[in-house]
Amino acid sequence: TDLSHIRNFSIIAHIDHGKSTLADRLIQYCGGLDAREMREQVLDSMDIERERGITIKAQTVRLTYKADDGKTYQLNLMDTPGHVDFAYEVSRSLAACEGSLLVVDASQGVEAQTLANVYQAIDHNHEIVPVLNKIDLPAAEPDRIKQQIEDVIGLDASNAVMISAKTGLNIKDVLEAIVTRLPPPKGDLEAPLKALVVDSWYDPYLGVVILVRVVDGELKVGQKIRMMATGATKEADRVGHFTPKAVQSGRLGPGEMGFITAGIKDIRETKVGDTITEERRPAAEPLEGFKPSVPVVFCGLFPTDAAEFEHLRESLGKLALNDASFQFEAETSAALGFGFRCGFLGLLHLEIIQERLEREFNLDLITTAPSVIYKVHMTDKSVIDMHNPADMPDPIRIDHIDEPWIRATIMLPDEYLGGILALCTERRGQQIDLTYVGGRAMLVYKLPLNEVVFDFYDRLKSISRGYASFDYQMDGYETGDLVKMSILVNAEPVDALSTIVHRSQAEHRGRLLCERLKELIPRQLFKIAVQAAIGSRVIARETISAMRKDVLAKCYGGDISRKRKLLDKQKEGKKRMRQFGEVEIPQSAFIAALKMG
Ligand code: GDP
Ligand code: MG
Repeated sequence: TDLSHIRNFSIIAHIDHGKSTLADRLIQYCGGLDAREMREQVLDSMDIERERGITIKAQTVRLTYKADDGKTYQLNLMDTPGHVDFAYEVSRSLAACEGSLLVVDASQGVEAQTLANVYQAIDHNHEIVPVLNKIDLPAAEPDRIKQQIEDVIGLDASNAVMISAKTGLNIKDVLEAIVTRLPPPKGDLEAPLKALVVDSWYDPYLGVVILVRVVDGELKVGQKIRMMATGATKEADRVGHFTPKAVQSGRLGPGEMGFITAGIKDIRETKVGDTITEERRPAAEPLEGFKPSVPVVFCGLFPTDAAEFEHLRESLGKLALNDASFQFEAETSAALGFGFRCGFLGLLHLEIIQERLEREFNLDLITTAPSVIYKVHMTDKSVIDMHNPADMPDPIRIDHIDEPWIRATIMLPDEYLGGILALCTERRGQQIDLTYVGGRAMLVYKLPLNEVVFDFYDRLKSISRGYASFDYQMDGYETGDLVKMSILVNAEPVDALSTIVHRSQAEHRGRLLCERLKELIPRQLFKIAVQAAIGSRVIARETISAMRKDVLAKCYGGDISRKRKLLDKQKEGKKRMRQFGEVEIPQSAFIAALKMG
């Protein structure tokens, strides 16, 4: 296709503002799927994505649109994830496009991720078309939101497209805006092949599928290609695009987006951000790639049943096939046995992987407290990257420890400001800025990441009744007074519950954790001491008194079904018990204890 008839664009939005619904409408309008194939949110393909309503993997779809100027255009749509944990994937998708549709819910207005995403789009020199969605809602205030977009983002919103993705109102106006207001790609058909590897995933039928954006030259079936970063050469055996069905057109030209397969078995053989060139006539220079995506949150995953270890290993391997940003390595814990230390892009990523393991692979897991990567500077001048509290060196050998900080943007209605400020202060935050835009407060804070990986999102949401939005970027390392806090159950350390904390938080955290465990650990035939300690110094202690009554006594011999339920529950509990010395701790206690900060 002639470059002037191609438009590559992404849709950026805060979560729930209607990005996926709009994508569906665009696909529907352009006839990519028939009515039977069209089900809601076709781009959100994984079950969990559909249930949680979030898009994780960016997908690309080619739309064919006959515009009012009488010409037929090829529109390549990249769907992007909206959640902060996947900011890296957003950036990657944006790099493959020339323009963005900025979708803003006309009843909600600009939110933290609207801002984060739009700034990224501006960084990528995108032309941006504002789209006000949900104007069918009685609460929609398009004029106020337009003004807000101008005030907060500094983007001309006078000709924003006003739509309802739900009812399909004005979808054609969006398509016309894409054609008339976004620039076509640039590229040279005669130049040596340069194609950017935007994404790759494992497909059980096709093997590794690589999503590419061709910049110069031509990519064809049968061509010998070379991956410039790794030097590997392959033969392109399938070349095509998604509509969202895979269509094997056999060729991709400059400016086009699509997929190739090349007999690759493992996605680790492909490097996202790499440049594909032609073996016969290679490009002199690769394209500017992407920064690698690095896991920032780590935790241990252990099977409740030790016999499931191999099954867990296989399952993790399968998930890693589709998700290059997920890492794992074997780990042993004195208390939990054999398991894996896993790295994630963020807490949501962690939760999703955990949920998939339990749901799709039928595994019962114990997850240890999430940790960030600390840089431990030793007295001998060496530096250790540490993300497992179990690896904490002897304090005598430590000179100082640096921890990662983030720069967070929080947007919220004014009435919750007091509560959120208190939360940020409690989490050792440093306020950078506070401004008011369109009736909302915009708060910029520096926060230690380790204070955020626990329950910060949950707290933020509950304090603001769901109205605060949050986004962050990494902001370097700073020295902190960090210590390892261990939890002892009848003097037996429970390594799965040990955490690295700031000294100022240790006592408070320790007390909370001990209180929580006291509630969570069922009484047993003997007294149980639960202690939190830094080194040998106990900082908090609770005692669980010995059991007196049979659990069934509570039922007064009455309702039989209730009794059975209790027995079943007990049995269920048994299955998920872990032994610590003499003490049995149910898995639910770990999960609940680990959920709190
Ligand atoms: P995403 O997170 O940005 O992909 O948002 P979704 O497309 O998943 O939409 C979030 C929710 O808003 C869903 O329940 C949609 O049905 C709803 N929604 C999307 N567009 C509209 C709209 O134009 N009007 C109304 N009333 N609801 C919408
Ligand atoms: Mg979505």
